[in-house]
Amino acid sequence: MQKLTFSDLDLHPALQSAVAAEGYTHPTPIQAQAIGPVLDGRDLLAVAQTGTGKTAAFALPALHRLTNANPPSPGRARVLVLTPTRELAIQIDESFHAYGKLLRSSHTVIYGGVGQRSQVRAMARGVDVLSATPGRLLDLIGQGHVHLDEVGIFILDEADRMLDMGFIHDVRRIIERLPSDRQTLLFSATMPGAITELSRKILRKPVRVEVTPAATTVERIDQSVLLVEKADKTRLLAHVLDAPEIERALVFTRTKHGANKVVRKLEQGSVRAEAIHGNKSQSARQRALRNFKEGRIRVLVATDIAARGIDVDGISHVINYDLPNIPESYVHRIGRTARAGAHGVAISFCGVDERPYLRDIERLIKQRVQVVQGHRYESTVAPEEHKSAARPKNPSRRRRRRRAPRGARQR
Ligand code: AMP
Repeated sequence: MQKLTFSDLDLHPALQSAVAAEGYTHPTPIQAQAIGPVLDGRDLLAVAQTGTGKTAAFALPALHRLTNANPPSPGRARVLVLTPTRELAIQIDESFHAYGKLLRSSHTVIYGGVGQRSQVRAMARGVDVLSATPGRLLDLIGQGHVHLDEVGIFILDEADRMLDMGFIHDVRRIIERLPSDRQTLLFSATMPGAITELSRKILRKPVRVEVTPAATTVERIDQSVLLVEKADKTRLLAHVLDAPEIERALVFTRTKHGANKVVRKLEQGSVRAEAIHGNKSQSARQRALRNFKEGRIRVLVATDIAARGIDVDGISHVINYDLPNIPESYVHRIGRTARAGAHGVAISFCGVDERPYLRDIERLIKQRVQVVQGHRYESTVAPEEHKSAARPKNPSRRRRRRRAPRGARQR
């Protein structure tokens, strides 16, 4: 079968030039399935995770449809994208900028944690595309700086994360303010009951598309696990990072405190690293991300929430300094390497207390993760004991969502 190209999708020539400039030759599966129906004005329910090319799957057809729309009035937007985190909001705005460059479409981004003045100013004249996080958007609506009565296309991104992060109520309040005569696109990596219910309420005869279940993405990633005592983890990390093939590594810790500690230890060993997590100011997070993207630092240490939606190409390695207690997080984490078809490597450190998490992960991804033997900081706990540590001792241990060890749940 001939592979679909962007010109087969009937996108505006300016958009085709823009994707070519980005170096995209073929649409990803989500783009191939979603772009046509969205261009036709259909509502969309897309089950897709970050890394599948979902941003372009909504941004390209939305920009195309804007070419026939009237310019926005003051304080209004034509397209509204709601997304759970500031980083994602910024990245989506950057994508609209890149794809819409030749169309000269206007765009801006609204998120909390920074002064609102420049956001208010950007909205004053009206914009074609507004990307926003829910809390600050509601604030600005409340203050009369933003009105949603001209939104023709509403995109709800990472709907399941909105739910996890407690934003679903805010999302509903925003939806109530949208015109009922609009096109709605809902993206979610998973479909918990509350999101299915929401989708029934807000979508009209949607086209449903679903791409790459987690386990398939995972197959392209070379995964291994190193058994290690907790006290040796920082030494092991420094040792692993000695390998020159690690061009750009994203290291995950379970807690903010853990992220800071890892950075401190690495810097003591002269490895330049920075941390991003919820206790860092927005500007510090942006700076760390920029340094990482532009190659000034080789190692970025992040917690799950802070890392959500980080879109950095060329992450050669994901290192799980701590294993996540929610197995789905493992899939999200390692999906940061192997973006859009590339190959990636994921290395996980597993302390004795984390062995049950490893078993849960293996159950979810339906494969065993290879245990590296004979490394310098290998745990002295015998493999038999690893196994028994992993074996559920009572039925409650079989639950997939586990409580993290004490003190490890704050992010
Ligand atoms: P997303 O899932 O939207 O976060 O996109 C993941 C990554 O894939 C981003 O770095 C995009 O720049 C990249 N990407 C999106 N579409 C394509 C494509 N058709 N070909 C190659 N890379 C793409």
